Amino acid sequence: MTCIFCKILNKEIPSFKIYEDNHTYAFLDINPKTKGHTLVIPKQHSENIYDTKENTLKHLISIVKKLSKIIKQATNADGISISQNNEAAAGQVIFHIHFHIIPKFKNKTANKYKEGEAEKLANKIKTLL
Ligand code: 5GP
Ligand code: ZN
Repeated sequence: MTCIFCKILNKEIPSFKIYEDNHTYAFLDINPKTKGHTLVIPKQHSENIYDTKENTLKHLISIVKKLSKIIKQATNADGISISQNNEAAAGQVIFHIHFHIIPKFKNKTANKYKEGEAEKLANKIKTLL
């Protein structure tokens, strides 16, 4: 299996975990649009919305909702944007379905983490769960 997100699930690639249950994993995006940008994925590999089971999607969106509130709180965001890309033409780069949770700020903020900052934020989010 060469899928990058499956490698993250198998811990072959490290990630800053936000949340995990039997079916779902959420972690900080490596190239965040803003600090707190999080990806939510099912543990069972599927490419995109077309081949993902409805029950899996239902569970995923319930976790996206739960995490959105917590991430807003942890980052002091003014809003939260949710996105999900299907196929290259739509901007999909990793072909393991994922939802983006992207904090939005009225004022422009830095989007690069300083040393240790991503881990600290991941821990803060986890304590709020
Ligand atoms: P897509 O464009 O497929 O909707 O989004 C893929 C996302 O995965 C991008 O935002 C990208 O920064 C993120 N990403 C790609 N490779 C890695 C990785 O190895 N680790 C993490 N944490 N995020 C990744
Ligand atoms: Zn995968």
